[in-house]
Amino acid sequence: MKTTIAALLAAFVLLAAAPARAALTVVTTTQDLAAIAQEIGGDKIKVTALAKGYQDPHFVEAKPSFKLTLNKADLLIVVGRDLEIAWLPALITQSRNGRIQPGSNGYLDPSTTARILEIPTGTVTRAMGDVHALGNPHYWLDPENGRRIGVAIKDRLSQMDAANAAYYAQREADFSRRLGEAQQRWKAQIAPYKGLKVITYHRSWANFAEAFGLDVVGYVEPKPGIPPTPQHTLDVINAMKAQNIKLILVEPYFDLKTPNSIASKTDGRVVVLPPSVGGVPQAADYFKLFDTDIALLLDAIKATGGK
Ligand SMILES: [Zn+2]
Repeated sequence: MKTTIAALLAAFVLLAAAPARAALTVVTTTQDLAAIAQEIGGDKIKVTALAKGYQDPHFVEAKPSFKLTLNKADLLIVVGRDLEIAWLPALITQSRNGRIQPGSNGYLDPSTTARILEIPTGTVTRAMGDVHALGNPHYWLDPENGRRIGVAIKDRLSQMDAANAAYYAQREADFSRRLGEAQQRWKAQIAPYKGLKVITYHRSWANFAEAFGLDVVGYVEPKPGIPPTPQHTLDVINAMKAQNIKLILVEPYFDLKTPNSIASKTDGRVVVLPPSVGGVPQAADYFKLFDTDIALLLDAIKATGGK
């Protein structure tokens, strides 16, 4: 009997001393997805983002280290809608990681359950230079979509790591609750300027504009992914003058030459607005991204004399 108890105790001590189950290794294409994955996965996952928030997510330079990072991933989370089409598919193939190939359990595209705007109708050809052929891929900029991304990540993590399903569910519920509170605050802050007309450089802000009541009237780019042309720039200047538009919102990775030139001819103001977590240092997580963008917008609105 004593020996049995001793053996049991020894086994228990061994079990207790054994390291905790290794965390799931999650790789995301963007820092936005990494931030949301971290909210849901907590200390049960290890998250790495490939692109930095200050890079244009359509055109990320693929570093050799990306292949190694992808090789070790249990789960790859992509923005989808072809956002990463220029740089990601080859990397996934070269990663030699069967777990994360499209269609497998370790590949998650949360755009399939998100609200996607600007889905083209009719025949779309990429020869037109449009990088938004499957609809607007910048959908994470609506907090409601942040919530949907959170649910998709919770569902997949629970499926891959059923032992921690309750943990993921609790964290997702908490994320959703905090997001709801923050949304009320953000909407109240921007509410006095509902319908504010703005110009943006790229079509990054469709979902953001819908969520917070902005009216995006034109773009510095003639088409998504196509640099400004003199004729199109003239059209933007005329539209701004005709409709008394003062704000030009520019993502941190675009050249400010054309926006500054437009601003100088329209008495307008250029606002560098990060569309991603990590786009500027203070946009350090998903909540701080909206805190930062709304504060920058309010400052700019005040600087141009209100509406
Ligand atoms: Zn885009």
